[in-house]
Amino acid sequence: MTPIYDRVALIGLGLIASSMFWSMKRSGLAGHVTGYARSVETRDTARRIGLCDTVCDTLSDAVQDSDLVVLAVPVGVMGQLAADIAPYLKPGATVTDVGSVKAQVIADVAPVIPEGVHFVPAHPLAGTEHSGPESGFATLFDNRWCLIVPPEGSEPEAVETLSRFWRGLGSNVDVMDADHHDLVLAVTSHCPHLIAYTMVGVADDLRRVTDSEVIKYSAAGFRDFTRIAASDPTMWRDVFLTNKDATLEILGRFTEELFALQRAIRQGDGALLHEYFTRTRAIRRGII
Ligand code: NAD
Repeated sequence: MTPIYDRVALIGLGLIASSMFWSMKRSGLAGHVTGYARSVETRDTARRIGLCDTVCDTLSDAVQDSDLVVLAVPVGVMGQLAADIAPYLKPGATVTDVGSVKAQVIADVAPVIPEGVHFVPAHPLAGTEHSGPESGFATLFDNRWCLIVPPEGSEPEAVETLSRFWRGLGSNVDVMDADHHDLVLAVTSHCPHLIAYTMVGVADDLRRVTDSEVIKYSAAGFRDFTRIAASDPTMWRDVFLTNKDATLEILGRFTEELFALQRAIRQGDGALLHEYFTRTRAIRRGII
């Protein structure tokens, strides 16, 4: 494939950035990829495993000649990072991010992007519970959605080029408004993560069931919760702090439903439980 961007910079070399690198190498989407990570340890690991064509020790070296700069750090630090790289961005370059929350990231990043540089936020709906430079793999984005969330006034060509890039990484692409993105993700990802954290916390707190029993007799449902609850704490702290309104709205609705089910169990209302579970099964069957 002819490269879509000649030079790409990946800032923050964790799961998403490293997967992007291996996927770009697989498909020839980028001519040359530079990488920057804050810690010397991560940069050393990246050099050892061949992650990025050049691993840079400074942000300026990583971004200065780049046509596409990818911010792949926790959402709480996107704004500061964008301000740090702003002086070095090449006119005509595109800055994108891969953050799980969009409205707050746009509010933090857009104001510091210099005139003549495009900012086109994106969110690949793909991940695992693993993090760090060694966790990435080339097929992470295959047949997954990537949502492109252009702020008002974005240049259509920059949006189309980034969409083509994500399709080249294997994803299906949709364009969405930031507030709607944050509400959809609160339902489909953020609140389910919080519920998983809570359930694992309950098991840990329940003194009458030992930790070893929980591990030994872990049934599929709880196993899935523990896998989700093993995700990176910094990333998920930032998701809830920056997608506060949408997650609080969905959690409010969730607790109403949970109380209704709690009452049905207490009252022995099998009809309600059966009707509820039939409805939720239909949703699952619609997904597959
Ligand atoms: P990760 O923990 O694997 O990597 C994040 C990297 O950012 C780490 O190398 C960390 O050292 C670095 N970092 C943190 N603060 C920094 C700073 N101030 N300056 C420079 N580097 C810094 O995380 P990830 O899963 O790759 O997530 C990166 C972004 O992608 C996050 O915004 C997250 O919301 C988003 N995302 C994650 C997933 C997922 O499931 N993991 C899915 C889609 C999007």
